[in-house]
Amino acid sequence: MAKKASSSTKMTYYFGKTKTEGNGKKKELLGGKGANLAEMTSIGLPVPPGFTITTEVCDLYYKNKKKLPAGLIEGVGKNIKLLEKELGKKFGDTKAPLLLSVRSGAAVSMPGMMNTILNLGLNDQAVVGLANETGNERFAYDAYRRLINMYGDVVCGVAHELFEHAFDKIKKKYRAKEDNDVPTEGMVELCEAYKRVFKRHYGKPFPQEPIKQLELAIEAVFSSWMQNRAVKYRQVENIVGLLGTAVNVQAMVFGNMGDDSGTGVAFTRDPSTGKNKFYGEFLINAQGEDVVAGIRTPQPVEKMAKWNKKVYDQLLKIKDKLEKHYRDVQDIEFTIEKGKLFMLQTRSGKRTGAAAVKIACDMVKEKLITDKEAVLRIPASDLTQLLLPSFSPAGKKSAKVLTRGLPASPGAAFGKLAFTAAEVVERTHAGEKVLLVRKETNPEDIEGMHSAAGILTSTGGMTSHAAVVARGWGRCCVAGAGEIHIDAKGRKIKIGGKTFTHKDVLSIDGSTGEVMVGEVATHIPKLSDDFSTVMSWTDKYGKMGVRTNADTPEDAKRAREFGAQGIGLCRTEHMFFEGDRIMAMREMILAENKTDRKLALKKLLPVQRKDFIGIFTAMKGLPVTIRLLDPPLHEFLPHDDKSQAEMASRMGVKRATVKNRVAALHEMNPMLGHRGCRLAVTYPEILDMQVQAITEAAITCKQKKIDAQAEIMIPLVGTARELELLGNRVREVIARTKLDKKFKGKLEILVGTMIEIPRAALTADQVGQHADFFSFGTNDLTQMTFGYSRDDINTFLPDYLNEEILPRDPFESLDTTGVGQLVTMGVEKGRLAKKDLKCGICGEHGGDPDSIQFCHQAGLDYVSCSPYRVPIARLAAAQAALSNGA
Ligand code: ADP
Ligand code: MG
Ligand code: MG
Repeated sequence: MAKKASSSTKMTYYFGKTKTEGNGKKKELLGGKGANLAEMTSIGLPVPPGFTITTEVCDLYYKNKKKLPAGLIEGVGKNIKLLEKELGKKFGDTKAPLLLSVRSGAAVSMPGMMNTILNLGLNDQAVVGLANETGNERFAYDAYRRLINMYGDVVCGVAHELFEHAFDKIKKKYRAKEDNDVPTEGMVELCEAYKRVFKRHYGKPFPQEPIKQLELAIEAVFSSWMQNRAVKYRQVENIVGLLGTAVNVQAMVFGNMGDDSGTGVAFTRDPSTGKNKFYGEFLINAQGEDVVAGIRTPQPVEKMAKWNKKVYDQLLKIKDKLEKHYRDVQDIEFTIEKGKLFMLQTRSGKRTGAAAVKIACDMVKEKLITDKEAVLRIPASDLTQLLLPSFSPAGKKSAKVLTRGLPASPGAAFGKLAFTAAEVVERTHAGEKVLLVRKETNPEDIEGMHSAAGILTSTGGMTSHAAVVARGWGRCCVAGAGEIHIDAKGRKIKIGGKTFTHKDVLSIDGSTGEVMVGEVATHIPKLSDDFSTVMSWTDKYGKMGVRTNADTPEDAKRAREFGAQGIGLCRTEHMFFEGDRIMAMREMILAENKTDRKLALKKLLPVQRKDFIGIFTAMKGLPVTIRLLDPPLHEFLPHDDKSQAEMASRMGVKRATVKNRVAALHEMNPMLGHRGCRLAVTYPEILDMQVQAITEAAITCKQKKIDAQAEIMIPLVGTARELELLGNRVREVIARTKLDKKFKGKLEILVGTMIEIPRAALTADQVGQHADFFSFGTNDLTQMTFGYSRDDINTFLPDYLNEEILPRDPFESLDTTGVGQLVTMGVEKGRLAKKDLKCGICGEHGGDPDSIQFCHQAGLDYVSCSPYRVPIARLAAAQAALSNGA
């Protein structure tokens, strides 16, 4: 959380030979870059000296109506005096000027937030001094033109392209292909041209006073903290609670002094595969961002040995030292000035999921870290990348991106476009690979969604129907790609003026949200031994169980392979959509009296029983929590005239009958209407049928020596009496079924409830008296606690995130402060009623690492999540246990 800065706060921290005031732990205060520059200095690495202005000063700057706090510039002056003494140069000197770099750096790395300013302190006189001192006029003017360009761009808002344009003219004049081909007189001319560009677009000439340059540069770094792209970046990455950015002012070293100088970036290990191989690039006679900017093609870092063996060996030694010191992969930046190596940055290296797993395992083998540390180090969500097919790097490189939606469900998919669920099923059946393209999806599309290679929608967010369902299956989905205009009737879509029809192939990347032309090459990741090793550690340290949300034997099997320890939520409604079942279901709904309804239910009974046998068999020996019918009945009926007519004719009833029933079932607010256990109160025969099917399935399994462990869950309970009434009915049906089947063996079926209505949590001590278990349905619980409809939240969520009213989408990550209280209270009160009441969570949050951390603290026995998230949840559960002192 944000700390307050007081006026007596120490504003600057020096690093150098004289003294080093900061260290690697002070990231909050000095930013990652500043803290690590201090740390590297302390462990004896060659770092050009400098000082860091704290993030607290940034905070003060904003509290001060964007004015630098009193005393800062004096403090900066003192630090510069130290630098001058240490280096024997003077800032602003015309003979041997001390030049500085001014660099941003927050506690969390935010690439691209602000460009660095190099060579600060140069002016029309100092450039001459620098040329004389170094005997290298070209270098001096190269440094000066870079300063005018960077300073103009970053501090004064003169667009970089304007400078580029001027450079192009000079290059043309001297017939130079690359920057480095421009001769000295060209560089001198370029500086003059740059100064003209600066003055023309800024209105004032390039500032000649070094201290003024520095002051404005510091302010520019602070201002960059709130510029649009920085704010957006923090939003996307969920970075909250930081004070601001630090400013690093550092003596310059020069990679652009000739062919014995250079600059580079490297990773201590390969960040995409994790292989223990030094990985990086360098450029000879270059400065700063030249490597990344792609002006010239850099060379792989191994080639350095040929260029300067001594420096390369030194770099390898430093690489090892850094890894040993930080005990993690480092991402480093370095510069060589006339054969002398300087370290300019180190930070923990970002890596892919696959690399994270390999590196963690390797480092345990190398005895660099313990297995506990390894578990804590792998970002749980990144495991997703290992489990789903993904586009190959080569494929991505040549792909043409048309537009971007939300990365709703990771994975890679391509296919021809299909516009209805039925079309998807038909074409998939015929052997085609198709993408389902819809404005949005709804429960009727389930079959089509399941058959599709991937799902692409133009509206809806990360928790839209399409997104949630797709994630559940590990089906690739890009949602809410708003630039796509869908003409479903015409079987075509338009993206930015281009039209694609049902014959065209598109590729979608569910990890980035990209929509691309044609078939982009994919590769299927193989689960490595390292992956299994990590999973075995999670079992060693995790305290909570991990179950899965699965409605079919296939999903159950897959989840089991991923290590699921049961099913936490088996929804029965999906079972009613498949094939002909929907007809029986509709008959049941259309029935006007109990007798007719029972008749229809009789047809559904064997189908349900068969489904349950399948699931129990797949999950033998493990618990299976089955939720009784939950959605409002109208979801099973067609709503447009044509489908209603079709249904009427198929069922041999009047069209009006269907229409009237649909009308009768219409509700103003179905989410709060006749659904969940309320259905069972009105139509107990539905409950009877489901419970009978479950019990018979369990008996059949037992007779086949398959250990079925059924748990029956009653949804949407708000009062203890609801559960008492329905729970008793469930138990009666179980007893009766056993009698009917003459089953004498042991068959224990638990009866519990979902806690998803705030009132149930508030009265959990009463509700708990009638329950064998609680399962927190945090989707509805969030919906009802906030009063936000999950399906409509995207109309206002972006504004809520922008204004920081909400830190995150509460449907994605559990609102621990509000909704979390209900969970904690539900567990505590429930266990007052029954000491060992089994408690779990089955909402979407069950697969979210942050929410899992909370579940651990709330004392839940297990979390349940979609099959593909099971490994993630196992890792997150182990991390929760370890970070809470296991
Ligand atoms: P970013 O956060 O975008 O990586 P940096 O502050 O690391 O920005 O600066 C980018 C590059 O500028 C560095 O990689 C380095 O090449 C160059 N640079 C920064 N400070 C110095 C310095 N004191 N001497 C020489 N080059 C520097
Ligand atoms: Mg950097
Ligand atoms: Mg619910």
